[in-house]
Amino acid sequence: MLVERFISRVIRHNTAHCFSFENQGEIEPPPAPEKPVHLYLHVPFCSELCPYCSFHRVAFREDAAREYFRSLKEELRMYHDRGYSFSGVYIGGGTPTVLPDELLGLLDSLNGYFSPAEISVETNPDRLDRRLLADLADRNVKRVSVGVQTFDDGILQAIGRFHKYGSSALLRERIGDAQGIVDTLNVDMIYNFPIQTERMLRQDLQTLVELSPDQITFYPLMVSSLTRDRMKGIMGISGQETEKRFYGIITGALDGLYQPSSAWCFSRRGASMIDEYIVINDDYVGAGSGAFGLVAGGIYANTFSLSDYGRRIKEGRFPLSARKIFSRRELARYALLMGLFGLSMDTDMFREKFHAPVWSLLGPELLFFRLVGAVTFEGKRIKLTRKGQYYWVAMMREFFTGVDNFRDLSREAAGIVKEGSA
Ligand code: SF4
Repeated sequence: MLVERFISRVIRHNTAHCFSFENQGEIEPPPAPEKPVHLYLHVPFCSELCPYCSFHRVAFREDAAREYFRSLKEELRMYHDRGYSFSGVYIGGGTPTVLPDELLGLLDSLNGYFSPAEISVETNPDRLDRRLLADLADRNVKRVSVGVQTFDDGILQAIGRFHKYGSSALLRERIGDAQGIVDTLNVDMIYNFPIQTERMLRQDLQTLVELSPDQITFYPLMVSSLTRDRMKGIMGISGQETEKRFYGIITGALDGLYQPSSAWCFSRRGASMIDEYIVINDDYVGAGSGAFGLVAGGIYANTFSLSDYGRRIKEGRFPLSARKIFSRRELARYALLMGLFGLSMDTDMFREKFHAPVWSLLGPELLFFRLVGAVTFEGKRIKLTRKGQYYWVAMMREFFTGVDNFRDLSREAAGIVKEGSA
């Protein structure tokens, strides 16, 4: 575990540095890029809040949520007027399907302004009805990702999802019914809960193989520093050794049936799937409260305060409230992290983007990863090995935990209490 601990520490340190924003206040978005970019839209409302969750989410209130969707549509119009165009859209949360009629209206605005080639939407199991999925498919939604986390009733109870989204039997029925309507139905799972045993994990995998969804994303449990204290009281602390062992069990069980499309996303063999937006897109705009964007060499964060967000949009002002411009080397490292998370990186594309060969900017990093057996060089591509896949899981865990820590601080500064109610 020495290598894993070392790279985890490096990523932890680098992520904390990346998210120490140098400009805060009211910030204008950069000029629209020449080419279309991706768009991430955030809907923070959830009917109830899960204790392990470190996202930007607040307890659902219908009036506030309807007002928020109005603001989102207005923000889209503002980006459109600025000359932005979006090739693909990811709507995440929170629970984007918390008000289905509002989500459908938002999708109509999106398609009207930008005609993106593909749209992904996150949802929870209680919103998996066939009618809604058909309405989403009619509006160009190609991928729906449903948060299941586990099929173990004991863990579902411990994390507060049993009474919200139902037992394992009900979850299986809902997923079975929901298949075949959108191009890609993805099931989001979490592993390495402190109370999860190997038997429970193998049972989850068995259930997934029987259900055979188009795509499965298996995240290791990731908790911010604040959430860690809460989780410790509920079920203890997870170990990294177990994470590594469980990852091996997951990849072994899905081998032959699914093929990895990122270090933690597995798509059914032979199917064509779309994936997480950070893997396939260099630049993206973030819309909605607490969303991040990466455009023109800088990372941007929108205000986490919902009232501030609504006020700014009403006054015709963008909600960006923090920015950090990266150095060329930081951007190159980010490209390597995200590129290889998607399993391979094209060195010609890298050269085109950075106007330099990959070795000249990332020589020490590539040498290190080659020495520890994480990557191979095949023609113009750098590829992640099986061993390297777990190293990337460990690094992405640290990266997202760093993002979650930043969210916690921003939410606190915005006056949002720890449990998440506004
Ligand atoms: S994990 Fe729970 S609280 Fe977090 S976004 Fe999903 S439903 Fe909301």
